[in-house]
Amino acid sequence: MTSTIMLEELTWPLVEKAMKDGYKTVLVPVGSIEQHGHHLPLATDSLLGEALAKKLAEKMGKTLVAPVLRPGCSVHHLAFPGSLDVSPATLMAMIRDVCFSLDHHGFENIILLPSHGGNFAPVATVTQDIAPKLKANLIAMGDLMGLIGKMQEAAVEKGIPREAVGGHACAGETSILLAYRPDLVRMKDAKPGYIGPFTTKYQRKGFKAVSPTGVMGDPRPSTKEAGEFMIEKITDMYLAAIRRELA
Ligand SMILES: [Zn+2]
Repeated sequence: MTSTIMLEELTWPLVEKAMKDGYKTVLVPVGSIEQHGHHLPLATDSLLGEALAKKLAEKMGKTLVAPVLRPGCSVHHLAFPGSLDVSPATLMAMIRDVCFSLDHHGFENIILLPSHGGNFAPVATVTQDIAPKLKANLIAMGDLMGLIGKMQEAAVEKGIPREAVGGHACAGETSILLAYRPDLVRMKDAKPGYIGPFTTKYQRKGFKAVSPTGVMGDPRPSTKEAGEFMIEKITDMYLAAIRRELA
């Protein structure tokens, strides 16, 4: 057992030892720095990716977590102060170079975990592009609607209305942050946003056109307990997907 599973917190001799001890899988969360309503920090998607990666690594065993890559592709959030955007080409170049480094060190499985909607398409493209060039198996947890669906399912089981989990700064993301970094959640400032069927209008018109508060869904019914449950459910789904892919 390593002292920490966070790659960036280890020393090089400890990484060398971990790999000799069988730590051959590494998870790479791909997050964002973008507005998440009045109550969640800009780093929400990055923290969410880190929370999921840590729990998933625990469940998988002998697995390390690489630094969360950020910022992500957030052009549709630029109308809100503080949001940072990188182009898909920049994000893909970063992912590619990190994967080549991990491959160089001899990791056998590299698993990309996009935790922000705008990153899913570039992650899918770069995965297809570089997988054949790596010795390692490269896979991506690339099902955005599956992720939101799992959050909704878990929310409903915990008594939160499905429509509160709209996919952005909603009762899903807020509950997970309440479970992982409650110190960064300003619940008294939480405001509802767009509530209705999932729409991709924000991709064409910008997020503010869909939701002036920057929220899709309603964060107000969020709870820490629901967040812990969501982390369990989502990581179980990922674990099953990874086992299928690597079988
Ligand atoms: Zn988010």
